[in-house]
Amino acid sequence: LTLDAVTQHYKGAPTPAVDAVTLAIGAGELVALLGPSGCGKTTLLRIIAGFVQQSTGRVLVGGRALDDLPPHRREVGVVFQNYALFPHMSALDNVAYGLAARGAPRDAQQRKAREMLDLVQMDHLAQRLPREMSGGQQQRVALARAMAVGPRILLLDEPFAALDKSLRLDMQIEVKRIQRKAGITCIMVTHDQEEALSMADRVAVINKGRLEQFAPPNEVYDSPATLFVNRFVGASNALAARMVGADMADVAGERWPVRPLGGGAGSPATVCVRPEQLRISDGAGLPGTIELSLPLGPQIVHEIRLADGQALKLVESRSHGARLREPGSAVSLTLAEGAVPNAFTPAPEGARP
Ligand code: ADP
Ligand code: MG
Repeated sequence: LTLDAVTQHYKGAPTPAVDAVTLAIGAGELVALLGPSGCGKTTLLRIIAGFVQQSTGRVLVGGRALDDLPPHRREVGVVFQNYALFPHMSALDNVAYGLAARGAPRDAQQRKAREMLDLVQMDHLAQRLPREMSGGQQQRVALARAMAVGPRILLLDEPFAALDKSLRLDMQIEVKRIQRKAGITCIMVTHDQEEALSMADRVAVINKGRLEQFAPPNEVYDSPATLFVNRFVGASNALAARMVGADMADVAGERWPVRPLGGGAGSPATVCVRPEQLRISDGAGLPGTIELSLPLGPQIVHEIRLADGQALKLVESRSHGARLREPGSAVSLTLAEGAVPNAFTPAPEGARP
């Protein structure tokens, strides 16, 4: 699936909802569209499905433009956030619906629908109505319905948003299993960065309708292309700093090795240090004061305020001797061994990020 400079201007809106997005997604790949609410994720999904006709740009599958095809001829299956099952139909009939609408013979419909319910492990509840199923079960049926017509591409819009945390994890694993088994190309919309990082082969990070980065989860986490990506994906402390060498920054008087990103040269810079890249030391380091220590299972999270007023988070592992600390106690902060935070310098005047 290729998106070629896809742009969507809704009437009367001051800025485009989707702004020149170009993406090439491989067959069988699971891609997450990740970004804050309102950044254009659903609009992009609706353009691919054919429910919204984009203002400019093209959508291609296998090199063929889809733009003139109506939704039902695009070989695209969609699962919406609210499942949208027919309330008066059994699970089986819901799954068979798309096949019936395409004029498949009744016994073929039933056979295929059974097969799909089996795939999502819901065959034992085939005769249940939606109101007799849990949220996770309805979600499985919606997934089976989307897959039944044999789409080449599966689109999922925030599919787990309505599920509670433990059920969400089960469903994430389930969807990944089914997607792998069926070898289907899948695009999943989410605003949950953990979900995107854990499930996707590649993550497309979107901000204000624009694609900021399209890369595997590790790369998005470790080598964010922009300051936005660094701050949106994973927790991050953004500290005002000054470059004092090609890969050295002055952070409140301490010299830290950094990886310069963003294209600018020299000072000033924003250093993004992850909570797990910091340590509390008994000796030298950035002076700070503990505001709060929170025991979060295997980890302890400390909220720390630096002398110049900047606040940051630090995570220590209990297995490495972390302990709760009293609010108000003085600490020194150093970089964890081998940690090299990213430093973003403002891009040169006129350059597009
Ligand atoms: P997301 O799914 O990332 O939350 P959306 O694609 O739903 O974002 O929305 C992107 C932007 O487009 C928002 O500013 C939203 O208000 C606007 N928008 C979405 N749908 C329409 C529409 N049908 N008409 C006008 N504006 C819309
Ligand atoms: Mg949305």
